[in-house]
Amino acid sequence: MKVRSKTSRAKRRQEILRELAADEVVCVAVEQGHSRATEAIDALQRIQDGTYGICADCRKRIPAARLQVKPEAIRCVACQADYEQRSTAGPGGWRDVAKRSA
Ligand SMILES: [Zn+2]
Repeated sequence: MKVRSKTSRAKRRQEILRELAADEVVCVAVEQGHSRATEAIDALQRIQDGTYGICADCRKRIPAARLQVKPEAIRCVACQADYEQRSTAGPGGWRDVAKRSA
Protein backbone atom coordinates (compact mmCIF):
# COMPACT_ATOMS: atom_id res chain seq x y z
CA MET A 1 0.00 0.00 0.00
CA LYS A 2 1.28 3.41 -0.98
CA VAL A 3 1.33 6.12 1.64
CA ARG A 4 1.49 9.65 0.32
CA SER A 5 3.32 11.91 2.71
CA LYS A 6 1.41 14.79 4.20
CA THR A 7 4.17 17.22 3.30
CA SER A 8 3.99 16.49 -0.43
CA ARG A 9 0.23 16.94 -0.34
CA ALA A 10 0.58 20.20 1.55
CA LYS A 11 3.22 21.30 -0.96
CA ARG A 12 0.93 20.49 -3.88
CA ARG A 13 -1.91 22.39 -2.20
CA GLN A 14 0.41 25.39 -1.77
CA GLU A 15 1.34 25.18 -5.47
CA ILE A 16 -2.33 25.10 -6.49
CA LEU A 17 -3.08 28.11 -4.27
CA ARG A 18 -0.18 30.00 -5.84
CA GLU A 19 -1.36 29.15 -9.34
CA LEU A 20 -4.88 30.31 -8.48
CA ALA A 21 -3.55 33.55 -6.98
CA ALA A 22 -1.44 34.15 -10.10
CA ASP A 23 -4.47 33.56 -12.35
CA GLU A 24 -6.54 35.93 -10.25
CA VAL A 25 -3.90 38.67 -10.43
CA VAL A 26 -3.64 38.35 -14.21
CA CYS A 27 -7.45 38.43 -14.62
CA VAL A 28 -7.76 41.57 -12.52
CA ALA A 29 -4.89 43.22 -14.38
CA VAL A 30 -6.61 42.53 -17.70
CA GLU A 31 -9.99 43.73 -16.39
CA GLN A 32 -8.65 46.93 -14.91
CA GLY A 33 -6.44 47.88 -17.78
CA HIS A 34 -2.83 48.66 -18.35
CA SER A 35 -2.41 51.23 -15.59
CA ARG A 36 -2.27 48.52 -12.94
CA ALA A 37 -0.07 46.14 -14.88
CA THR A 38 2.99 47.06 -12.82
CA GLU A 39 1.16 46.27 -9.58
CA ALA A 40 0.08 42.94 -11.06
CA ILE A 41 3.63 42.10 -12.12
CA ASP A 42 4.85 42.97 -8.60
CA ALA A 43 2.18 40.67 -7.17
CA LEU A 44 3.29 37.84 -9.47
CA GLN A 45 6.85 38.40 -8.29
CA ARG A 46 5.68 38.15 -4.67
CA ILE A 47 3.81 34.92 -5.47
CA GLN A 48 7.07 33.48 -6.79
CA ASP A 49 9.01 34.77 -3.76
CA GLY A 50 6.44 33.28 -1.41
CA THR A 51 5.75 36.69 0.14
CA TYR A 52 2.36 37.14 -1.56
CA GLY A 53 -0.39 37.95 0.93
CA ILE A 54 2.06 39.21 3.57
CA CYS A 55 1.74 42.87 4.57
CA ALA A 56 4.81 44.86 3.48
CA ASP A 57 4.69 46.97 6.65
CA CYS A 58 3.59 44.80 9.60
CA ARG A 59 4.48 41.42 8.03
CA LYS A 60 1.14 39.93 9.07
CA ARG A 61 -1.00 37.90 6.69
CA ILE A 62 -3.34 40.06 4.61
CA PRO A 63 -6.92 38.78 5.09
CA ALA A 64 -8.19 36.65 2.17
CA ALA A 65 -11.25 38.91 1.81
CA ARG A 66 -8.98 41.88 1.10
CA LEU A 67 -6.95 39.89 -1.44
CA GLN A 68 -10.16 38.87 -3.20
CA VAL A 69 -11.10 42.53 -3.64
CA LYS A 70 -7.56 43.72 -4.31
CA PRO A 71 -5.31 40.78 -5.27
CA GLU A 72 -2.34 43.09 -5.84
CA ALA A 73 -2.55 44.57 -2.31
CA ILE A 74 0.83 44.79 -0.59
CA ARG A 75 -0.47 46.03 2.77
CA CYS A 76 -3.25 45.08 5.16
CA VAL A 77 -6.12 47.58 5.50
CA ALA A 78 -4.69 49.24 8.63
CA CYS A 79 -1.19 49.69 7.18
CA GLN A 80 -2.59 50.90 3.85
CA ALA A 81 -4.64 53.55 5.69
CA ASP A 82 -1.52 54.60 7.63
CA TYR A 83 0.50 54.70 4.43
CA GLU A 84 -2.09 56.83 2.62
CA GLN A 85 -2.31 59.19 5.56
CA ARG A 86 1.48 59.53 5.67
CA SER A 87 1.71 60.20 1.96
CA THR A 88 -1.13 62.75 1.84
CA ALA A 89 -0.92 64.46 5.26
CA GLY A 90 2.75 65.37 5.25
CA PRO A 91 4.06 68.88 4.61
CA GLY A 92 2.72 69.99 1.27
CA GLY A 93 0.15 67.17 1.24
CA TRP A 94 -3.34 67.95 -0.02
CA ARG A 95 -4.80 68.04 3.51
CA ASP A 96 -2.29 70.72 4.42
CA VAL A 97 -3.22 72.73 1.34
CA ALA A 98 -6.95 72.31 2.09
CA LYS A 99 -6.44 73.52 5.66
CA ARG A 100 -4.53 76.61 4.54
CA SER A 101 -7.08 77.64 1.94
CA ALA A 102 -10.05 77.07 4.30
ZN1 LIG B 1 -0.05 45.56 7.91
